[in-house]
Amino acid sequence: MYSSLAAMTNADGLDDGHYLFGDAHNGILPMPLAHTGMKGESSTVTPAALEHVHYSESTASSVHYGDTHDMSESSGGHMSGRDERDSSASSGYVNGLGQDGAHASTIHIHQPHPLRTSETSDGAIDLHQNKLTGVNGNHSLPHVKDHTPLSGGRNQFTHTPVSMASTPRPQHDSSKASSTPELSQSQERDTVRRSRNSSPMKNRPSEFRANSSIPAALTWEEFARQCILAAESSRLNPFALHPEEYKLLRNHVTHAQVTIYLNIRNAILRLWTKNPLVYVSLEEAVGCARDKRYFTLAKVAYSWLMRNGYINFGCVEVLNTAATIPYTKVKRGARRTIVVVGAGMSGLGCARHLEGLFAQLGEQWVNEGERPPRVIVLEGRSRIGGRVYSHPFRNQTGSTLPPGHRCTAEMGAQIVTGFEHGNPLNALIRGQLGIPYHGLRDNTILYDYDGTVVEKSQDVLVEKLYNDVLERASVFRNKPATFRTVEGDRNLILFGREPTDNNGSTIAELEQSQAPLPANATTTASTTEEKPSTGVEKLAGRAYQLSAGFNPNVSATQAIRNMGWALKAGAPEIQSLQLDPVARASAHPTLGHIMDEGIKQYQNVLDLRPRDLRLLNWHHANLEYANAASVNQLSLSGWDQDIGNEFEGQHTEIIGGYQQVPRGLWQSPTKLDVRFKSVIKSVQYDVETKEIGKAVKVECTNGEVFEADQLVLTTPLGVLKSGSITFQPPLPDWKQGVIERMGFGLLNKVILVYEQAFWEPDRDMFGLLNEAEHQASLNPEDYAHQRGRYYLFWNCIKTSGKPTLVALMAGEAAHYAEATSNDQLVKEVTDRLDKMFAPSYVPLPTEAIVTRWRKDPLARGSYSYVGPRTQAGDYDVMARPHGPLHFAGEATCGTHPATVHGAYLSGLRAAAEVVESMIGPIKIPNPLVEKKVRLEQPASYPTFTTEPKRKADQEIEIEPSKERLMQDEDYEASIIGEILSKLGERPIKPGRAGVNPFLLYTKDYWYICKKECDEKKRAATGDPNEKASKTEIRTALGLRWRTDSEEVRKPYLDQTQNAKDDAAANAATFKDRVAKWDEDAARIRREYIQNHPPPDGSDDRILNSRTAIELGAGKRLRRL
Ligand SMILES: Cc1cc2nc3c(=O)[nH]c(=O)nc-3n(C[C@H](O)[C@H](O)[C@H](O)COP(=O)(O)OP(=O)(O)OC[C@H]3O[C@@H](n4cnc5c(N)ncnc54)[C@H](O)[C@@H]3O)c2cc1C
Repeated sequence: MYSSLAAMTNADGLDDGHYLFGDAHNGILPMPLAHTGMKGESSTVTPAALEHVHYSESTASSVHYGDTHDMSESSGGHMSGRDERDSSASSGYVNGLGQDGAHASTIHIHQPHPLRTSETSDGAIDLHQNKLTGVNGNHSLPHVKDHTPLSGGRNQFTHTPVSMASTPRPQHDSSKASSTPELSQSQERDTVRRSRNSSPMKNRPSEFRANSSIPAALTWEEFARQCILAAESSRLNPFALHPEEYKLLRNHVTHAQVTIYLNIRNAILRLWTKNPLVYVSLEEAVGCARDKRYFTLAKVAYSWLMRNGYINFGCVEVLNTAATIPYTKVKRGARRTIVVVGAGMSGLGCARHLEGLFAQLGEQWVNEGERPPRVIVLEGRSRIGGRVYSHPFRNQTGSTLPPGHRCTAEMGAQIVTGFEHGNPLNALIRGQLGIPYHGLRDNTILYDYDGTVVEKSQDVLVEKLYNDVLERASVFRNKPATFRTVEGDRNLILFGREPTDNNGSTIAELEQSQAPLPANATTTASTTEEKPSTGVEKLAGRAYQLSAGFNPNVSATQAIRNMGWALKAGAPEIQSLQLDPVARASAHPTLGHIMDEGIKQYQNVLDLRPRDLRLLNWHHANLEYANAASVNQLSLSGWDQDIGNEFEGQHTEIIGGYQQVPRGLWQSPTKLDVRFKSVIKSVQYDVETKEIGKAVKVECTNGEVFEADQLVLTTPLGVLKSGSITFQPPLPDWKQGVIERMGFGLLNKVILVYEQAFWEPDRDMFGLLNEAEHQASLNPEDYAHQRGRYYLFWNCIKTSGKPTLVALMAGEAAHYAEATSNDQLVKEVTDRLDKMFAPSYVPLPTEAIVTRWRKDPLARGSYSYVGPRTQAGDYDVMARPHGPLHFAGEATCGTHPATVHGAYLSGLRAAAEVVESMIGPIKIPNPLVEKKVRLEQPASYPTFTTEPKRKADQEIEIEPSKERLMQDEDYEASIIGEILSKLGERPIKPGRAGVNPFLLYTKDYWYICKKECDEKKRAATGDPNEKASKTEIRTALGLRWRTDSEEVRKPYLDQTQNAKDDAAANAATFKDRVAKWDEDAARIRREYIQNHPPPDGSDDRILNSRTAIELGAGKRLRRL
């Protein structure tokens, strides 16, 4: 009986190497190998009474300490046959889907160019174009791209004599291993890449050409739109410098050049996001500059993006610049070593990015007589992935997965919380590895503890109440940090235009002098990036939408009425919640206590029934899942400090196991040097030494010792807290302090595998309410202990390949799972399911797996949370390096903690830090942008002169060879000057009206509202100096706007309507105005040439040329 559970304790090689990537690692393919050769013992359990169940408890968990059964990665059990993999590739898979309509609606498969792919007819971009809706086989899904060269020749690059960092690109080899063809937008870069790979041009210098990466076929507006989307998809503000860019550039660029830089940077990101299967080269990046004066600016943008992992990250083959240097120049033996501890997503992300950077920047070491550094990953387990662990089922028969996939259950990470708006896993999963995934539908239903289904109306009502209390608690949130940065000219960026760059003061000079801002500059000062109040990123179940305009000052009774609840008989008409005194009563208030207090105060005016309490506590459990901690352990002011960073798009699960992602990262494009079963126990380090290989000494429990120059520790926070690794000298107090202050929580799962589904197979999840410790209690606190037990079931039938339910154990229930026997848990959950699905028969599972992450010595818990003592900014302190020690892992990523993508991003960050500590920050040449050659202009109209400039006017030395080009440009500039002085700018395509009545209203009422809110706050707290927060003022304004009379609102609504009408009128006349402008511009050009013939007699050429400005590009000097 339950041999499956017993088997979990065996060193059985369950995760035994039938992976996506084979030993030959000669390519990435979108599908794992066929599971021939799997251990096939059946672990079928006779569904008998549980009293008779006898299974070993010798190991309490399926999370195997030291992973004795996880022989997978090091076992040599990999399959290397390309044939098998090819045969398992997507065509077969799609055919499979065609037969199984159930998959077709929501399964997505490999998208070779996944980010902003094809255009839909209305100009929007269809991100799910490869969704297999209605697909009925027959997709050959070619991966090989059309290499027809683009017309216009902009992408004909000359390349440096460098070699690729690794084996030939497999993506292009496998014609079967892909999905929906998506050629159009990727051709331009792919063509380039193909020419580079096929005919490396040795010993020829790089050739940079302005505009060469700007497709002629796109209008500037469309190009700008794609660039802006690319920046947003990379977590960067398209209109402002990242604070680190700001630091790097502020002494070197003027305001106008900020806009130019942003245009270049966004255009480089566009190249990358269009196709992350191929790296962006320096030539391509420089080709995003529209004038050669900005080549160095483009190189800086490129270096910054590359180093920090915004481009050229993940499973991508990059250029190896070191290969150009003769080996004889390299001193033997001189090679630095970076040791990365941990082969989870952060460690692998870091190691992979380091490898990429060492290849791309390799010449920097080789020029110093060293070989580029090497990277060694030490992993304590015998498998890859850490907390991303897809545990294979013992019984692989009857799989409904596409061929080549194993049936697995996610022990750790399971959900990708949206691919869009900056998730780096988008590039990895969809862009590079092409792993299939299943889109989750938000169709949860909730079962009460007795098995009855909760009516939707009650669910909605209670959720409103819950959100109301949550929002009231959110006023105690810490203020978001502000970052100093500078914005570019948003209007120009929106239209893909460039400003006039007439030199001028740098940003730093402007800031110091406090001179007035140049025209169009909105700010040089710090920009506060306030986060919107939405969602909970980690939450993969139900998201909480904190509505804009919520007013915490609205009385509880009013709120109740607004929600649709009935007031309790005899309740006062107006009664408010008083949470302030409770929050202030403790030095370390928690979310749970404040929320329970809020619920209790609501009970004064509202008759809550036990089922309402159970529902409210189900929501608590849901937050406890998101945070891996009881709400009573979450910091009131900081529990959701990552709010506003959520990605967008459908939540998804990986078909065949999330572990394919870290495996891909490990194996592609070349295998990283991962040493399995290397549990480190001590780290000796020296912050002073400069001697190669002597700064760090790491000792493993198996006796191995590694010396290194830098160490990146990605061990979970739980491991650091446990003290199982000793540091010599001990870590400084600031680091030890933060390790202690931060929370490391627990979430567990009970995984149940059945022969047949007894639930609705198309429902992705369903919830379960739990009874209080005292039956039918009306005291919210009585629910804390049990509310997280099996509170949510994931139906994993589509991703695991077998009828599988994953029951979550959140909050205190997670600890209960650690302490309770498998028999007991299986019995309990079966009883619960029995009630839920009565009268259907609920059998015992054929296989059951229980996670116990706290007991796992290489995790010591599930993921980090913000505990009551955690301080604002502690995640950043966790991330801060100390001497040669660097720290990565989900608990070092303040923007996306507790997630796979957060872990991965932390690895990229650590890699950039390591490189910076070795070769220093990006060097900025002086001047960064060549000064513009001033034209001598007569009073009446601009003219061209070939006379040599007087010394004072000559701001740069002009090389004779460049003189001709500059003459041309100067002549062209004169024509443009003439056109602009006579006609003004070419009409800009009118945008949307962009006037919002509420914003206009806000302008007028902000201070009035602020005064009122301040006064209320003072009255409530008794503190005469108290001030209302911006959020409070904003929410009060929202309420005021909604409740103000028609008369007050009318002028704002009218103003908006007028603006809309004007915009519509503008749009209607736009075409005519542009046509007229173009005609006049052509005439002025003609007249100018007649009156001022060009010195070299090239009248015809110049007459027929039209600068980009005449084609709607503003003041760009782009010659077509
Ligand atoms: C139950 C559960 C559910 C989750 N659900 C989701 C989800 O749905 N979506 C999501 O995005 N995230 C989820 N997460 C979080 C996500 O899994 C983690 O944030 C992420 O995987 C952490 O990656 P990491 O590299 O920081 O750490 P890890 O993956 O833990 O990697 C650290 C590595 O260090 C190794 N190590 C530890 N100590 C030593 C030592 N002394 N010597 C050598 N090696 C050592 C470990 O073996 C491990 O491989 C979940 C986590 C859990 C536990």
